[in-house]
Amino acid sequence: MRKLLFLFAVLGAFLKVGAEEQPLKSPDGRLAVSVSAENGIPTYSVTYDGVVFLEPSALGLKTNIGDFTRQMVLEERSSVSPIDESYQLATVKESHIRYQANAQTFTFFQNGKKIYDVVFQVSDNDIAFKYRMYPQGATLCCVVEEEATGFVLPQGSTSFLCPQVEPMGGFARTYPSYETPYTVDEPVGKNGWGQGYTFPCLFRNGDKGWVLISETGVSSDYCASRLLGKEGGHYAIGYPDQREFNGNGTAAPGIALPGETPWRTITLGTTLAPIVETTVAFDVVKPLYEPSQTYQYGAGTWSWIIGGDASMNYDEQKRYIDFSAAMGYQSVLVDALWDTQVGRDKIAELARYAAGKGVALYLWYNSNGYWNDAPQSPRGIMHNTISRRKEMKWMKSIGIRGIKVDFIGSDKQLGMKFYEDVLADANDYGLLVIFHGCTLPRGWERMYPNFVACEAVLASENMNFSQKSCDAEAFNACLHPFIRNTVGSMDFGGSTLNHYYNLKNEPRGSHRVTSDVFALATAVLFQSPVQHFAMAPNNLTDAPQWAVEFMKQVPTTWDEVKFIDGYPGRYVILARRHADKWYVAAVNAQAETLKVKVKLPMLAPDREVSLYSDDKNLEGGVKTVRINKKQEVQLVIPNNGGAVIMEN
Ligand code: CA
Repeated sequence: MRKLLFLFAVLGAFLKVGAEEQPLKSPDGRLAVSVSAENGIPTYSVTYDGVVFLEPSALGLKTNIGDFTRQMVLEERSSVSPIDESYQLATVKESHIRYQANAQTFTFFQNGKKIYDVVFQVSDNDIAFKYRMYPQGATLCCVVEEEATGFVLPQGSTSFLCPQVEPMGGFARTYPSYETPYTVDEPVGKNGWGQGYTFPCLFRNGDKGWVLISETGVSSDYCASRLLGKEGGHYAIGYPDQREFNGNGTAAPGIALPGETPWRTITLGTTLAPIVETTVAFDVVKPLYEPSQTYQYGAGTWSWIIGGDASMNYDEQKRYIDFSAAMGYQSVLVDALWDTQVGRDKIAELARYAAGKGVALYLWYNSNGYWNDAPQSPRGIMHNTISRRKEMKWMKSIGIRGIKVDFIGSDKQLGMKFYEDVLADANDYGLLVIFHGCTLPRGWERMYPNFVACEAVLASENMNFSQKSCDAEAFNACLHPFIRNTVGSMDFGGSTLNHYYNLKNEPRGSHRVTSDVFALATAVLFQSPVQHFAMAPNNLTDAPQWAVEFMKQVPTTWDEVKFIDGYPGRYVILARRHADKWYVAAVNAQAETLKVKVKLPMLAPDREVSLYSDDKNLEGGVKTVRINKKQEVQLVIPNNGGAVIMEN
């Protein structure tokens, strides 16, 4: 004991390893992380209620100034320090967030020299950790060539994953664009299409629970990563493919010393609730600059999804402005080819016309520098600081609300710098930013205050492109609330009310197989603070009035989310609150009709609600019902159908 006190006195907050080797636990004590360095290999492992969720998994960095994945000694572990922070964020699933966690720093040495800390923060259902590298003598920078960081799932785990594609393939060499189909309920042990998997990655730990692996806090100071599948349940952090961005820029990130990696995050629990409700992607990052103004979010429409390139003309854009105004929406997204098919002067005129109706415009841009062949214009503006800022100055002068920048295709550090530069410049000119054909946002809603959302999903456009995507709409909608949308805003551009993907809504091209109630439900299920819905002006007269009325008032920003029930790829039921009003939304992808009695503790007994539901022919309707004393509601949802409960 005397010796222990002496150590405390000498090392202050730091303890020599051996003095205390208790696992780092969450505030509720259920989640535990153990860190060690047996045989010189740094590892960590994770249990929840004593059940193994991650077997001993490697830590470590291999750099161009040394291999710090082996011959490492865990010399120091700090005392555990509690974190209790509150913040507000209007653009994600929850607006007022309290983050409570326990933090501990583990310091690793090699040959007597201090190399890096691994900083762990453990909240009740989330683990976040990052590396902090120290200068080595006069060496004040390094390149991280490889990261050993692993995630070893217990035997019997299954996976729900989105494979990465080969770079520089696909449409006009725009890959990777994070637009690949998921595999679900698959055994572990594969590596996708040879390129690993896109974050976030979902695993089922047998019947014991669920694990979501992702990363956050990625800025121009690092690259974005992926998950590589090894043997069995072993997965490891992988860096971008050297061929991305036409081979320009390094795959390996460089850091100044002292310097940090992004956070690796693990969200887990016995149910899917912690994953649907997690805010860890935002909890552990900080705003990188102040917003230049109070930004306006909301709903809008866009002609391209139904009308395609031919709809990009002055009259049609004006018709969509009128349509947005009639819906009470805030914006119109003017997609590709506006520069040649409408022209800049006419865009300024449209912006003025829209402003008179309380509607603002978003303008589309090709991101292209030297990294894609996409012919869609405007091209050759966004990649260059000088041309970009000049363009943004013009946009500000005509009252443009935001930009949609497309076809980016790289997770390299150079790619991250592109995203960051566009965001920072756009903030200077009061513009919101949406990215398409792009990577997953990694904490960006909090880091960059004018960031809205990324696509990074097989979005609504694919249903215009192919019937196969229409047929898979419900299956995919039952994945996103559990995977893609759990860690970042998702610009899907959906809630189509046309039966056919053409402006006359006549039987040609691909057709929607999901119900109108399904379309309403996805407006709640898919979260982004700005939603350009795939509705068309004809829907004012050819869609059911109750559906149009619902779409007029559905919020795009939310204060709270609660997981109710579901299984990835089969069905999903969740509740979102906007101000004091709850919306419960559900869709079903299973062949059989879903009949489920759901407990809705957020709806007070005797509360009057609107229940939108489908009959067996997917004909929808709405009725007013009262919540019973048990706060239970019976939902009956056919295949490709939906249900929505809205507080009146
Ligand atoms: Ca796309």
